[in-house]
Order: sequence, then structure tokens, then C-alpha cells
Amino acid sequence: MILVTGSAGFIGSNFVLDWLAQCDEPVINLDNLTYAGNLKNLDSLQGDARHIFVHGDIGDSALVADLLKRHAPRAVVNFAAESHVDRSIHGPEDFIQTNIVGTFHLLEAVRGYWNMLTGEDKANFRFLHVSTDEVYGSLAKDEPAFTEMHRYEPNSPYSASKAASDHLVRAYHHTYGLPVLTTNCSNNYGPFHFPEKLIPLMIVNALAGKSLPVYGDGMQIRDWLYVKDHCSAIRRVLEAGQPGEVYNIGGWNEMPNIEIVKTVCALLDELRPRSDGKPYNEQVTYVADRLGHDRRYAIDASKIERELGWRPAETFATGIRKTVQWYLDNADWVANVQSGEYRDWVGKHYGEV
Ligand code: NAD
Repeated sequence: MILVTGSAGFIGSNFVLDWLAQCDEPVINLDNLTYAGNLKNLDSLQGDARHIFVHGDIGDSALVADLLKRHAPRAVVNFAAESHVDRSIHGPEDFIQTNIVGTFHLLEAVRGYWNMLTGEDKANFRFLHVSTDEVYGSLAKDEPAFTEMHRYEPNSPYSASKAASDHLVRAYHHTYGLPVLTTNCSNNYGPFHFPEKLIPLMIVNALAGKSLPVYGDGMQIRDWLYVKDHCSAIRRVLEAGQPGEVYNIGGWNEMPNIEIVKTVCALLDELRPRSDGKPYNEQVTYVADRLGHDRRYAIDASKIERELGWRPAETFATGIRKTVQWYLDNADWVANVQSGEYRDWVGKHYGEV
């Protein structure tokens, strides 16, 4: 049994689906279903006794302590977070609350549980904290990619809150001996990605004949990783990572945002041509840049390859094709997320959707 938090969200739901496709070890899924939590992602697990969903907050130590006591998981994987940089700029408080205070309460509950374990159960227990490359700050064009030794220089309320949570996790290892693992991953893309983020927003807007808003000059560089590769990396770290260690995870695929948008448009031109025969990239519009927008993130993922033998299975070309095809095949899922909060948020910032 493992406890996975935030697994109604984008990466967490992919992780649970992959986990249960590969083994029968049950999963308790703790998620408080913010706007980003969508149980539709886990529809295929309905009636599957290996998946236990619990609606609750990682900051509720009593609830978490009770879950740990009753189910005795061998590991906790923490995905739960507020994850959208733009939202953190407009309203940082939720980020402080969940990413910092919530992680603290979760760590306290896990520490209490781990202290009660004995023998092999105690030795084999792991707390895996899922984090981001954004904690390292921004790189100049010619600087080497982030290694695990790079100093923390978070620039947005989101990355600062994730950096704080990483430090707490580290401190629980050094102070209390809690067997923690931390992963810092680059930008993910793939199925079930909420359409406020770059790639799904472009696909959904393009198909709806809306504008494709690109921040600033579109030359912000990110490393991109297909979400299933992130899931396999987390699984590998959980299996073989050394407690107290940090592992960077990335796709070895740096690309400027505008290139991402052009690639998505070209795939749509091929897979679902516009009815007027014109190319989708005619819909691109440049909008005012995000405040404090980092210019470049790049991940050096050689440690996880060297020490744990993990490399991504997908190239960007194969992963992005699967992703675009998934959005074309799952119009119902898209329609579902496009109701409610999603509409309010994107409507305010990008016009009616
Ligand atoms: P997401 O926003 O899609 O999902 C977050 C999930 O956490 C949602 O289901 C939400 O309901 C849940 N949640 C939020 N606050 C909670 C709380 N207080 N208690 C319980 N559940 C709560 O995010 P994501 O993109 O899937 O990211 C998951 C994790 O991976 C985050 O920690 C994020 O920082 C990290 N990460 C994301 C990326 C990326 O590209 N998306 C890259 C690297 C790291």
C-alpha cells in the first residue's frame, strides 16, 4: 500500500493510473479537489478496490495520521500542491498554505507514523516529495543546466513556496532521520493536463478557433518531459533512491515556448486541419509578458541516469504527438474541465473561452 497525495491532479492521476497498470499494490489517494483536482481523470478506476480515494487536505494532520495508522502504507508520495505560476502571482496565499504549511503538517503526521514503525517497516519506509526545477531560478542562455548542486534562487511565489517545502523535507531528514527523497522535474505535458498550462491551452484554443496567447517574445526556454516519463522516474526513485538524496528529472529537451506552440499547430494542421484550410499558427497572438518571467530552465538529469539507470522513453516528437492525439480523442474530458472555475480563470486573463 502507498499513500499518494494530489493524485486527482495532472501528474498524480497519471502516476496512479500507471502504478495500477503495472502492479497490484493498492493506492490511497488523498486530494482535497481544488479547481485542478479532477476525479474524471481516474474514471477508469471506478469499482477498482486497489484505489481508495479520500477527500481531504494534506494540512489536516489528524486525518493524515489516521489514514497512516489504518492503512500502514510503506511509502508516501507527495504531489499535492498549488501548481500554476500565474495564479501564484495573482494570489500567493493558497500557495503558502498548501505548499509550505500543508507540507509541514503532512511531514509532521508522517514523522509521527514513521516513529511508531519498527524493524524492516521502519527501514524501508520512504517519503517522496515531488518538486520542480523552478526552485533553481533562471539561467542565462550559455549557462550549464541545473544539477542537484545548483543553489536555490526561486523567483515566483510558486517556486518560492515549492523551495520552502523542499527545505522542510530536507530538514526532516537531517533533523529527525525521516527517509525522504526529493525529485525536481522540468515542465511536464501529456494527458489530463489542465488547460490553463501552455500546451493544453494551445490545443484547446486552436481547435475552438480562439487566439493562441504567447507571453512576451515567446523565447522563454523550458525543458519538457512527457508525463509518463516523469511517473516512471518517480517509481524508480521510490524503488532505488537513497534516502536524503535529491534527483533532477528532465527530458533533455530544451525548447523556446514559441517553438512548442508552432509544433502543436503543425501537428493539428496534420491531424485535424482547419475547415478553411489555413494553418493554426495564424491564431498566435503575443500578449504582455508574465511578471518576473524566468528566461530559461534546463535540467541536467545525468545523476538519475548514472545512479538509478533512468532515462526518458519518449522524445519530444513522440510525446507531443501522443498528447495532441489524446486531446483530439478526449473532447468530453476537455468539455468537462472547461466548465466552472477553469472558465472563470482563463476568461479573466485571456478573454472568453
Ligand atoms: P495539479 O495542479 O494538476 O494537481 C495538484 C493536485 O493537488 C490537485 O488534484 C489538487 O486538488 C491537489 N491539492 C492541492 N492542494 C491540496 C491540499 N491542500 N491537500 C490535498 N490535495 C491538494 O499539479 P501537477 O501539475 O499535477 O503537479 C503535481 C506536483 O508536481 C506539484 O507538486 C508540482 O509542483 C510538481 N511539478 C509539476 C510540474 C508540471 O509541469 N506540472 C513539473 C515539476 C513538478
